[in-house]
Amino acid sequence: MKENFKLIATAAAGIEALVGRELRDLGIDCRVENGRAYFNGDMRTIAKTNLWLRCADRVKIIVGEFEAKTFEELFQGVFTLDWDNYLPLDAAFPVAGKSVRSTLYAVSDVQAITKKAIAKRLQEIYHRPENVPLPETGALYQLEVSILKDKVTVTLDTTGDSLFKRGYRVSKGGAPIKENMAAAIIMLTNWYPDKPFYDPTCGSGTFCIEAALKGMNIAPGFNREFACEAWDWFNSESFDEVRDEAEGLANYDVKLDILGCDIDGRMIEVAKHNAEEAGLSDVITFKQMRLEDFTTTKENGVIVSNPPYGDRLLTEEEVTKIYQAMGKVYRPLSTWSKYILTSDLNFEKKYGERATKKRKLYNGALRVDLYQYWGKRAKKSEKSLINAEK
Ligand code: SAH
Repeated sequence: MKENFKLIATAAAGIEALVGRELRDLGIDCRVENGRAYFNGDMRTIAKTNLWLRCADRVKIIVGEFEAKTFEELFQGVFTLDWDNYLPLDAAFPVAGKSVRSTLYAVSDVQAITKKAIAKRLQEIYHRPENVPLPETGALYQLEVSILKDKVTVTLDTTGDSLFKRGYRVSKGGAPIKENMAAAIIMLTNWYPDKPFYDPTCGSGTFCIEAALKGMNIAPGFNREFACEAWDWFNSESFDEVRDEAEGLANYDVKLDILGCDIDGRMIEVAKHNAEEAGLSDVITFKQMRLEDFTTTKENGVIVSNPPYGDRLLTEEEVTKIYQAMGKVYRPLSTWSKYILTSDLNFEKKYGERATKKRKLYNGALRVDLYQYWGKRAKKSEKSLINAEK
């Protein structure tokens, strides 16, 4: 049985450095390169990273890396990898592929050759005749062959459904943000569990739920399973151990002040339902309210919002009105920090203030900016006086 694996955590463009930070926070050394975080570890590391990484998409095992400029080199390279350590006789092993700036550019051929090389090797390992196809009736071992500048990397996905699927989102609205993107944005803010958190356009409640999970140190993958748990060689105790450990690390007593609002009452029902699924019903307040109607006497809060963009649902004029209203309501909250995610390049003009900082991100395929307005910090004495009144 293999003791040590070369691993990759994949992430959306622009947030790989945050995944690097998360890995280091878990006590795992890593290197961030080409949009991925590289690290080493055993099965426990695989279990732990799947359970805890809030910003990543997947955790993959690097089965092998080699150079190939011809199909013969590709075939031989794949064939000689130690497949006996990974794939049982009945493994279902689909091969996904990609090729960037490489001699072997025909992806479907690259996939087919890889599949053929693995099948041939497995037939040899398990003493099966070459003319009888392998059964592929067992657990899923999703593979990927990716070629970058003639360097081939063959990986095996340990995660299954992408890590953004936490298991709590039973329903969503029209334009939900992915859970791992929401978690990444929260990591980019200056929010700490002692500060008020407010999402004025909360939709299905993703930002609020992710903030609560982080604030209580609840492992994001606590409610779900991972592909490698179905593998016969994968030590199931690793998952038992990290799940037990996560149970002990969660801090359910921390007092959080998290509010999510939306103009649409149906979305508030959805958000409440999702929070309940995550076990956070008593932790987050959701209420139907227009962002225009928000008032507060609290200080040092953090607003995170993913307001409507101009799209098929809203006209440019309607969007402008919403952004103007945001400026009117939030600008005066000088000690609050505001983080607004939108694809609208004229957001600052409409909001009426230049952002302290902007950060380019991708919400799925859509290029967006996170407009950041940093609040002035209220003095401690003022803050405790004001927040004591609430
Ligand atoms: N981040 C959310 C999606 C937000 S989509 C999620 O993950 O699900 C934008 C939301 O803004 C929609 O749900 C819409 O109902 C809400 N909205 C639009 N205009 C609003 C207004 N004036 N006040 C409050 N919410 C508004």
